[in-house]
Amino acid sequence: MTIQETLSLLDHLNPMVLFLLFYVENGLIAIVGITIGFWADGNFKTMLGKISKTEVLWTLSTVFFNSIVTLAGYELFKHQVVIFDFELRPLNVIIDFILLVASMDLLMYLFHLVIHRISFVYKYHDLHHHYDKPTPISLFVLHPVEVLGFGILWLILISTLSFSFVATIIYLIFNVVMGLIGHLEKEFIPDVIKHNKYLKWFATTSFHRDHHTDEGCNYGFYTSIWDRLFGTWQQKEI
Ligand SMILES: [Zn+2]
Ligand SMILES: [Zn+2]
Repeated sequence: MTIQETLSLLDHLNPMVLFLLFYVENGLIAIVGITIGFWADGNFKTMLGKISKTEVLWTLSTVFFNSIVTLAGYELFKHQVVIFDFELRPLNVIIDFILLVASMDLLMYLFHLVIHRISFVYKYHDLHHHYDKPTPISLFVLHPVEVLGFGILWLILISTLSFSFVATIIYLIFNVVMGLIGHLEKEFIPDVIKHNKYLKWFATTSFHRDHHTDEGCNYGFYTSIWDRLFGTWQQKEI
């Protein structure tokens, strides 16, 4: 069965059932991601003791609003506002993946910078900054306005071009992985990558942790390119 045939099975489901399906999918992504994050930090056995009830409730809320974004994306796809390229051509997949990462990196840098600079919207982002020493679950402690803001940015981007479906799925996995790397307690990126002249542009654990301790720097998500370019980059070690 092709990817298109699999997706067409969803056509027959009513929106409520679809939403529940996406809620389970996003919930599993959160559970697996948080568990791997605590495991990477060496805290797998003690993870339940490190998670508060408030963090669990915010995570359930983020999963809920992420599922609304997923459902909106599916409806846009169904009505051909979002059009995917289902051909499996390796070069196209690679180019589209790079394009998605580069575009979202710039858009999210600007979005993040703006929400820090405008007090009216910062009050929504403040919730995430309640954690100056984040753990993997902090990635999901987000106000619904912020979740929907990032989601709308994403939906606008995938409506503009016909991206490869496979590249889009790889990008979505990359997005969760990079989010988790930024919210670990210990540096995940080895020195050999951090100091490599080609790879040093990628965001590290300390890059985003520094943003939690000093909100005046490091607004990027996947790379430090825009922070270096616009003078908001700082490097400390954890
Ligand atoms: Zn921030
Ligand atoms: Zn964060």
